[in-house]
Amino acid sequence: MTALHNSPAAFAVESLEGFVQANADRVLGVHGGVVRAAASPEGQVAIVMGGGSGHYPAFAGWVGPGFGHGAVCGNVFASPSATQIVTVSRAAQQGGGVLFVPINYAGDILHFGEAAQQLRAEGLDVRMVAVTDDIASGSFEERSKRRGIAGSFIVLKIAGAAAERGAGLDELEHLVTAVNEATRSFGVAFSGCTLPGAEHPLFELPPGRLAVGLGIHGEPGIREAELGSADEVADLLVDGLLAERPAEQGRRVAVLVNGLGATKYDELNLVFRRVSQRLEAAGMTLVAPVVGEQVTSLDMAGVSVSITYLDEETEQLWLAPADTVSFSRAVSTGAAPAESRRRRLAAQPSPDGPGAPIPPADADSRAAAHGVVRGLQRALQVLTEQQAYLGEIDSVAGDGDHGNGMVQGATAALAAARTAVQSGAGAGYALRRAAEAWSDEAGGTSGALWGSGLKAAAAALGDSGAVGPGRLTEAVRSYVDAIVGRGGAQRGDKTMLDALLPFADTLTARIEAGDGIAQAWAAAAAAAHENAELTAGYAARRGRSRTHGEASIGVPDPGAMSFALVVEALLGWAGAGDASAPAEQ
Ligand code: ADP
Ligand code: MG
Repeated sequence: MTALHNSPAAFAVESLEGFVQANADRVLGVHGGVVRAAASPEGQVAIVMGGGSGHYPAFAGWVGPGFGHGAVCGNVFASPSATQIVTVSRAAQQGGGVLFVPINYAGDILHFGEAAQQLRAEGLDVRMVAVTDDIASGSFEERSKRRGIAGSFIVLKIAGAAAERGAGLDELEHLVTAVNEATRSFGVAFSGCTLPGAEHPLFELPPGRLAVGLGIHGEPGIREAELGSADEVADLLVDGLLAERPAEQGRRVAVLVNGLGATKYDELNLVFRRVSQRLEAAGMTLVAPVVGEQVTSLDMAGVSVSITYLDEETEQLWLAPADTVSFSRAVSTGAAPAESRRRRLAAQPSPDGPGAPIPPADADSRAAAHGVVRGLQRALQVLTEQQAYLGEIDSVAGDGDHGNGMVQGATAALAAARTAVQSGAGAGYALRRAAEAWSDEAGGTSGALWGSGLKAAAAALGDSGAVGPGRLTEAVRSYVDAIVGRGGAQRGDKTMLDALLPFADTLTARIEAGDGIAQAWAAAAAAAHENAELTAGYAARRGRSRTHGEASIGVPDPGAMSFALVVEALLGWAGAGDASAPAEQ
């Protein structure tokens, strides 16, 4: 949804006005577009780009030294008029002629062609090379008719660098034609964009489907396919690109993984990960890849991959400095320092990594360490069963991640404890490794708190001697104290403490009264559950849910509930007669 506009008709113009005001040190607004604020050297060829608006950063965001000289900005998804192109070109030109680099759409070509005629009549030398990178939009044989999409970023970056180096108009026309020939893009869309003021997106896809061969003006894809994993989507794109791999070109490539507007950087990085693996496996070297939004289509969700096969000259131009509002490249410091730093970091031993010395432990503690592993197994099992429920109650006033966080934490903790136990660790060290892994992997507030709590419990368990009722109680107490200390919450704040404190109090009282572990634990777990349920009546006063405290009334606190579920699942574990119990004394 394009939520903000004043009047849909003024959207493009007003947005450009804001852009010019915000970047007054870099760009000047002229009728129909923008030009560089700083003058370029006399005689330099001016690169003029453009098309409809709604594609930001394309094209206004690419105006600046090392990139474009002027950008013509039409209405949303509509070609700019010849008059607009003429005024922008007059303001951009430095006496060296003008190279138009529009992207290939019929309307744009007509208007840029008309503008070229007018300017030539004024005595200005004007050439035009349209970008035709979208492999989905036509056969290889008819590639000159293909439409232009995000590969225009690479073509224009190289064109701007060549102009900066003083290439003449003939040379530039030739170079940009060759770079366009060496550039291929392929994209997919997950949802269409909504024009300002419109109520519905320009196209919709059924759930679980994607559109292959996206257009950047709200055109639906060329065909539909099933939406797979990120890697599968990346594979589809790379397969398409590699199918047209030119035999004679070099193996070094410029790469752009481009987001269409609603597909954000985390997802784009995920796609890039696979794209780079695949291209490298195909024997290619990726040169200064770019991941981000460069050619968008309002709020469309989608991603495209562009590659340009480089030669020595175009690689230098691709790496040359550029300084625009949306894209900058500093003078390259070269890859060598990065490589040697990477090697140095990889060689640094990690104090707790595999191979770190395991503190000595006696046989009793090593036996109890097996109990730690089995306890974590049970915790993981119940958390996995309740993952969706915990997420659901966390979504009422929080962010819905509690189930996932707990499962991730417990999974990592179990693996770490197992590894430690296999190397002969005692209960304390096994639980400490589990605690560190939990807080590393779980993320979130509860992950940090569980990590601190378990680490304190580990210190109480130690690596010698069996774990009897006294030590178990001490470990539970340390766990709770650490969480109180770390989180600073109080009972009644609607946090996990509302379950933890009654649990620890009941356990201590029952053990002191002479109960065995099994009985005492059962009573404590019941108290934890009861009090976790009671939190449904409170408003959250701590943590992420605090901001929606009132909204949380009616559902129990997720952290209190997950704690109660875990200690209940440990009932048999903590009881006599279970082989996994820490030995009762
Ligand atoms: P996040 O809030 O970072 O998304 P989780 O969703 O995993 O983390 O955990 C939320 C739970 O963390 C809450 O339900 C609450 O029990 C617990 N919590 C939040 N802040 C505190 C605190 N200061 N002390 C104790 N527990 C807290
Ligand atoms: Mg949460």
